[in-house]
Amino acid sequence: MKNLITLLLLLPTLSFSQHEEMIKKIYDETLTDGHVYENLRVLCKDIGNRLSGSPEAAAAVEYTRQLMESYGFDTVYLQPVMVPHWVRGKKEVVRAINSEKHGTFEMNALALGNSVGTGSDGILAEVIEVSGIDEVNELGKKVEGKIVFYNGEMDPTIINTFGAYGGAVIQRSSGASEAAKFGAKAIIIRSVTNRQDDIPHTGSLRYKPLINQIPAVAISTNDADKLSQVLKEQKLKVYIETHCKQLPDVLSYNVIGELRGSEFPDEIIAVGGHLDSWDVGEGAHDDGAGCMQAIEAVRLFKALGITPKRTLRAVMWMNEENGLRGGREYARVAKEKNEKHIAALESDSGGFQPLGFSMSGTDEQKDQVKKWRDYFTPYRVWDFTQNGGGADIGPLSPQGTLLIGLRPSTQRYFIYHHTPADVFEVVDQRELELGAASMGAMMYLLDQEGLK
Ligand SMILES: [Zn+2]
Repeated sequence: MKNLITLLLLLPTLSFSQHEEMIKKIYDETLTDGHVYENLRVLCKDIGNRLSGSPEAAAAVEYTRQLMESYGFDTVYLQPVMVPHWVRGKKEVVRAINSEKHGTFEMNALALGNSVGTGSDGILAEVIEVSGIDEVNELGKKVEGKIVFYNGEMDPTIINTFGAYGGAVIQRSSGASEAAKFGAKAIIIRSVTNRQDDIPHTGSLRYKPLINQIPAVAISTNDADKLSQVLKEQKLKVYIETHCKQLPDVLSYNVIGELRGSEFPDEIIAVGGHLDSWDVGEGAHDDGAGCMQAIEAVRLFKALGITPKRTLRAVMWMNEENGLRGGREYARVAKEKNEKHIAALESDSGGFQPLGFSMSGTDEQKDQVKKWRDYFTPYRVWDFTQNGGGADIGPLSPQGTLLIGLRPSTQRYFIYHHTPADVFEVVDQRELELGAASMGAMMYLLDQEGLK
């Protein structure tokens, strides 16, 4: 009896150290024999950027399907989803005309995703600068016939750059319709970044129904400062020419690779990122990194011979950038099939050094995961305080799924976000691997312990 009590008292300790040992193996495997970096190289260099509806997006679907099959996952399948098909067309022109000090000058620009183009005739109009949407509403009809220049900045005093991004990005997502309702002809936005340079940042906008759809471009922060300076000195006309357009929706896919659970196969734990990217750069941090980390997180179970108790799914969601159709379709099908997702984990904040996990769910769910923090602190993953999961897993929330986001350091993310600079070379192998191992370790604990 005494021995039994001793054993019972010892059990939690044993269990902790067993988990600790396995988590060490997970990190060791990724840091010594990991595949995530090489897989990301193939995605970025052999396929490249992959906007929804593009041939490259289709190639990325096939690449990740084959990759997961090559790892011997139990089931690998494609989930059909119709996606928007926006194309940029010929290079944008954004040109200031006849300024007194600088003459006529070009700006580094990218059309915003989903925006209509000007066509070959272009738009030439006077520019009016605003600091945000509130100012457009104050100006009202004064913006009629003009190009509205949104020059609001990301707040550099907010340490979590995603918070600063959230404050500024509304100019990009809603600025066109807000200006169009007063008769503006087009908009220019300051790129949503905290970096001062010549690189323009694209990203999606949403037109409001029943409001005239007007062209929208982003210019680099250096160009935004220059334009703003000139506008302080004089009235100025700018010429915009863009050739982007929305084509009919096309068939694409979420790519799903599954290891079937041995004890509770009906309890599903999903891990993923979004396979689509913008049509510039290589979508390395956003979000090739997250996709390859998710595949690695599941591959680790195979490599280390861990038989999962629950069903693990690596999911490559399609169309996060300009529609979120993949994330929505995945949740819709899960509900239709009565699947039970106990947790979903997403990496979509770049392949930087992981610092923690954010969560969205009930307090009970979150408290349980927070108790696992000690397993991660040896790897400098410590911050379990933030709220939120990820865009693609968000639609699972009404089904009671705990949403978890990998939270890497955010200080450099917005240098690259949605730009030609988001290429494989700016991802650090070790940081990427640490993120993949952290996801693998979180999957392992979710699988072994479940969620009450
Ligand atoms: Zn992303």
